[in-house]
Amino acid sequence: MKYIDEYRNGRLARDIARQIALTADPARSYHFMEFCGGHTHVISRYGLEDLLPDNVRMVHGPGCPVCVLPIGRIGAAIALAMRPEITLCTYGDLMRVRDKNGWSLLKAKAAGADIRMVYSTLDALKIAEAEPQREVVFFAIGFETTTPPTALVLKTAIAKGLGNFSIFCNHVLTPAAIHSILESPDVSKPGTIKIDGFIGPAHVSAVIGTKPYEFFAEKFRKPVVVAGFEPLDVIQAVLMLVRQINDGRHVVENQYIRAVTRLGNVKAQAEVANFFELRESFEWRGLGELPLSGLRLRPRYAAYDAENRFSMVTVTAEDNPACECGSILRGVQKPADCKLFGRVCTPDTPMGSCMVSSEGACAAHWTYGRFRTKARQPDAGRAVA
Ligand code: SF4
Ligand code: SF4
Repeated sequence: MKYIDEYRNGRLARDIARQIALTADPARSYHFMEFCGGHTHVISRYGLEDLLPDNVRMVHGPGCPVCVLPIGRIGAAIALAMRPEITLCTYGDLMRVRDKNGWSLLKAKAAGADIRMVYSTLDALKIAEAEPQREVVFFAIGFETTTPPTALVLKTAIAKGLGNFSIFCNHVLTPAAIHSILESPDVSKPGTIKIDGFIGPAHVSAVIGTKPYEFFAEKFRKPVVVAGFEPLDVIQAVLMLVRQINDGRHVVENQYIRAVTRLGNVKAQAEVANFFELRESFEWRGLGELPLSGLRLRPRYAAYDAENRFSMVTVTAEDNPACECGSILRGVQKPADCKLFGRVCTPDTPMGSCMVSSEGACAAHWTYGRFRTKARQPDAGRAVA
């Protein structure tokens, strides 16, 4: 297939759904977690769950970088942006996330903070070049996908001798989160929540390759299929997972061969390794402190590290106690199980992490899935067979 439309072909999707219905053993159930928020979005947007037989179910994972950023880091960014000498540059989807006092970067901007929305790391660099009297801080978030651009912007800033540019680093690592989910009591205790396999993230895997998942597939005996972001990619990955389960296999397979290799983008990995090192632990919103799950700048780049340069303080803050994000991010509950869903918690008034960005499980369900849940027939998947 060469064009995007072909990856959204309804007839082909129904063909694959029919194969899934014929392949899935009616005597067993299959639960697959899509780690990545992009996949959650595609599944909700194209109604893929409606094509699956009842015994093949998708479980949403924690793969949205905005959703997993802890409130304390937002609070620290707001406090930094309120300093008169600072210009804080950030991606748009971070602007509405609230800190523990209900403040957001949008609110801080309205109150006079110099906060600028950028589309790329280079936009932030251009601001630092154009305004040498300002201290320009790039609020960096994201998984392994967005870390190489942060490394490259730092490399460029150093090469240009820009002394007024720094990074507030919040980059996190996918394998650490998968590990935490697989080791959590909810998942590891038999009979609680079932995760039979994973759909591996697309962009992340283009950078890190499929190799890092081999450990999980082997140690936890869970198959992983890395998939692209189009509906046919995802539904084909489900078929590949069903086949692995039926065969009693637990290996890493690559559905997204047009972008992902086993070793990934080695050049990008080398740039990242040059500028960043592992933090002993990092807090994930909804998952808590996870060891070796986040990155910080290496000490030799301390002058470009906003946390060091401006003595930033991060305070741990809790979500609303009624929020079920932790359970949703681990696959124990679904968005509609939360008492706050759609009542006090909506994309305009997010109470927890999963409602914050459009790729969060609750936001995706709010936008595309909430009317379908009730309408769904018990054997919708078999109807296409
Ligand atoms: S792979 Fe892309 S869409 Fe998925 S969580 Fe990472 S950055 Fe987001
Ligand atoms: S609906 Fe809101 S409060 Fe409930 S789990 Fe989702 S994000 Fe958290």
